[in-house]
Amino acid sequence: MTVTLIIGLILNAIILPLAAKRVLFLYRLISHGQPAPDRMENITKRTAGALGTQLREVLGQRRLLKWTIPGVAHSFVMYAFLILGTVYVEAYGALLSRNPDWHFLFIGTWGPLGLLQDLIAVLCLVGLVTFYFIRMRNQPEKLGRKSRFSGSHLGGAYLVLFMIFNVIWTMFLFRAAVSAGVPESGPGSDDGYGKWAFASYAIGKLLPEDNGFLIGLGLLLHIGIMLVFLIDVLHSKHLHIFVAPLNVMFKRPDAIEREDGKTVALGKVKPMMNNGKAITLDDVDDLDEDATLGIGNINDFSWKGVLDFASCTECGRCQSQCPAWNTEKPLSPKMLIMNLRDHAFASAPYNLVAEDKRGGLDAAVIAEAERPLVGDTEGLAWHPDGGAIIDTDVLWSCTNCGACVNQCPVDIEHVDHITDMRRYQVLVESNFPSELNGLFRGLEQNGNPWNMSSRGRMDWAKDLPFEVKVVGETIESLDEVDWLFWVGCAGAYEDRAKKTTRAVAELLDMAGVSFGVLGNGETCTGDSARRAGNEFVFQGLAQQNIEMLTEAKAKQVVSTCPHCMNTLKNEYRDLGIELDVIHHTQLLNRLVREGKLTPVASGEGAHQRKITYHDPCFLGRHNQVYTPPRDLLQIMPGAELAEMERSGEKSFCCGAGGARMWMEETIGERINVNRTNEAVATGADQIAVGCPFCRVMLADGLTEAQDNGSARAEVEVLDVAQMLLASVKGEVATRYKPGEGEKAAAPAAKKAEAPEAKAAEEAAPAAPAAASAGSSLFDDAPAEAPAAKAAPSGGSLFDDAPAAPAEPAKPAGGSLFDEAPAAGGSLFDAADSAPAEPAAPAKAEEKPAPAAAEPASGGSLFDMGGSLFDAADSAPAEPAKAEPAKVEEKPAEAAAPAAPAAEPAAPAAAPATEAAPADLSGSLFDIPAASEPAPAAAPAAAAPVEEAPVEEPAAEEAPAEEPAAEEAPAEEPAAEEAPAAPAPAAEAPKSSGETNEPRTDVNISDSGSLFDL
Ligand code: SF4
Ligand code: SF4
Repeated sequence: MTVTLIIGLILNAIILPLAAKRVLFLYRLISHGQPAPDRMENITKRTAGALGTQLREVLGQRRLLKWTIPGVAHSFVMYAFLILGTVYVEAYGALLSRNPDWHFLFIGTWGPLGLLQDLIAVLCLVGLVTFYFIRMRNQPEKLGRKSRFSGSHLGGAYLVLFMIFNVIWTMFLFRAAVSAGVPESGPGSDDGYGKWAFASYAIGKLLPEDNGFLIGLGLLLHIGIMLVFLIDVLHSKHLHIFVAPLNVMFKRPDAIEREDGKTVALGKVKPMMNNGKAITLDDVDDLDEDATLGIGNINDFSWKGVLDFASCTECGRCQSQCPAWNTEKPLSPKMLIMNLRDHAFASAPYNLVAEDKRGGLDAAVIAEAERPLVGDTEGLAWHPDGGAIIDTDVLWSCTNCGACVNQCPVDIEHVDHITDMRRYQVLVESNFPSELNGLFRGLEQNGNPWNMSSRGRMDWAKDLPFEVKVVGETIESLDEVDWLFWVGCAGAYEDRAKKTTRAVAELLDMAGVSFGVLGNGETCTGDSARRAGNEFVFQGLAQQNIEMLTEAKAKQVVSTCPHCMNTLKNEYRDLGIELDVIHHTQLLNRLVREGKLTPVASGEGAHQRKITYHDPCFLGRHNQVYTPPRDLLQIMPGAELAEMERSGEKSFCCGAGGARMWMEETIGERINVNRTNEAVATGADQIAVGCPFCRVMLADGLTEAQDNGSARAEVEVLDVAQMLLASVKGEVATRYKPGEGEKAAAPAAKKAEAPEAKAAEEAAPAAPAAASAGSSLFDDAPAEAPAAKAAPSGGSLFDDAPAAPAEPAKPAGGSLFDEAPAAGGSLFDAADSAPAEPAAPAKAEEKPAPAAAEPASGGSLFDMGGSLFDAADSAPAEPAKAEPAKVEEKPAEAAAPAAPAAEPAAPAAAPATEAAPADLSGSLFDIPAASEPAPAAAPAAAAPVEEAPVEEPAAEEAPAEEPAAEEAPAEEPAAEEAPAAPAPAAEAPKSSGETNEPRTDVNISDSGSLFDL
């Protein structure tokens, strides 16, 4: 044993200092991040709470167990990691005391401990075998993007599997050799664990009794394997074994609590921070010159961000749920985090040394450190081998659906990181999809995305058979009513959403609930602006709303829009107002339970229909409202609820969140089409929604499905409130009365069979017929829609900019951002006067198909995922398409020159000279002006607000990319060099390049009843 001791000590003397050096490096790397004081507040309480969380998360393996077989297998390995630590204590005791039979003081050779150690070791082996076969079945090489391990480091995962196997067999060798040398023993005996350690005992029976050499060999191998493993873990992604528990401990304190008690970083988005402090509009003038807005460099991430990167297990759960990844877009939340992690580590030697010492560094390290964080990439967009770290298309593909955050077992905050990177691109680089110009312009000028006059905000209420109380007109304050009904921009302007607004108002009136609205005093909550990265437009809108809400004495708010609800409830709190906000389905459900609303049990309102419900991401995952809408649907007579496979917390996004509503979708399959196909596949007659954005997206998807004959003509998209109103009134509850659907379906089918006719229809810009399909019985007759209002195919939502004049009558006088031009123009000036074209997605390169370039290998020790221990989980139902033939098409080069975008600044300038100046000096958008030429404002000043939107030329050019998409190389890498082999057209992901089309052109008051439309 003396020789064993000497060798053991030498091994430890070599390896432990290496491990310590690495730990020190990791500490420096993580602590180099920006401050995050909110994560350190109440650290004692957090630590105590974290222990409880750890018990639930790690010991309870709660989230993992949801994944059944892999969850159980992972638990075996995880518990082995903890329990076999006791064997290592015994091994070191034996080594240092030179007594192979060394045991714990007091516990000694307590039989149950020996049993537990052997049992978990055997179960660990079972877990390893399980993981191996799961991996084999779910190889990215076979499944491509459908494999959640696609992009994970698979080789490393197999190495870990092998290392754990070595830990187990060396343990048995050591213990069996010891067991062979002692007499039979049993409970209470001091002679080893005996038969309690059943596996060691059995193996020991095969070994000679006099086996000092084997004992020493087993002991050294057992300790040596652990030391090598330690080095591997510290130098690889398996680091998460140690840092993931810390990451869970430092999670966002104001996260949303799920039904299972777990909190997730959803709901509000993280405030924009500078040096650990949230930046508000009031701080703008006082910011240091070197202050960053958002994140533009790896050094701008907080230490919690770096801890996030180090914690990723590569399990791929986020990826498997991501709507962008599942529709062939280049965004994978897993690979976004992995790319940031790899860059943080690779550039660390540069970032962690003093500037004067950087010159001596390796050229590759310097080159890595100088890569832009966001921009054009080389190679695969999701796993670039050059250029920027994060591809522009990756950044702007996110819908903020929150599926990744919700799924992540180690509490990584993907959405916050994406938003921070978008902030930098918008506020500093002025580099964002050109369609967002229209959104920002509408919000800036008229407080709504459509740039409609605020005087039209109450049009939805025209001719209702009761009076809608308006604060400042019919009531003085909300003290006179129970609820503030927050209508929202869609609810006020978008024709389909207006019907939801009217339905809710009618239901509240029928139930005797008093409510008031803010009328023309309401402004967009700013959700889309914030999620698009334009923090200052968001804050400007929020300030205006908060002033109004405070004046109106708002306390209880009901909203039909989950985005408004989320912003009012979770985000305005940081800006000074605490509101009790609920969704209309929650309030309506309460009223039904209280007997104030009663569905009619028979008649036309009760005939049999199947309904499927689409969970809006901002209602479900972001705010944990899953049950009330379903409760309502289930109490409606005649209604049968059919769930989609992806529902509840695993619901699939409609594609509109994260300001994607306002952007063109040019890559891969359209998300709304994917979701609509899933809804239609349930056989439902009605697709119920609880969000105006979802309604637009799914109605558009349904239109397409009905046009191509894959959906029945009877199917319609309706808000739950409309369904309830029909049920309560006993009015016809479906698109067609019983028996009429078939008659209507016939022409629809005929239409689907006539592709030429369809093509001609699509070519017509007005496309009123297309607008009809997919909308509800309760929707406007499409023929009524003025042709001029329909957005042309491929154009921006804002192409049909309303003719309404810019509304100067904002409470504060003029536009929210009126003062901007005085100091050099608005954001839009800056963006467009920048030398570089701001239209981020303007690229035409194609990238190889994903499966062709799967990185070789990966996984982790205790991962739930990228690891060997993962299983092919219950990945969401695949899109209807087969494996994509191409993926990385990028939007065609935007033809629009930068200059015209400066025009929108002009109208803001005019009122500014007349309006009383607010406390905002200069433009809100002056902050990034350092990167923008100031003269841009001057020519802008002459441009009228009604000027043609700048996006139009680019939109017109967009179709040029379609053929390129079809010619995208197939999966073989060789295709990169041989673009001559076009993918079959039928397999290429469809991409219309269109935005979805909210309809704001129908006079809703022309109809007597909501349902007459
Ligand atoms: S929020 Fe949704 S779209 Fe964005 S990365 Fe996460 S899963 Fe994908
Ligand atoms: S740990 Fe898993 S779910 Fe979380 S970011 Fe990494 S791959 Fe995604």
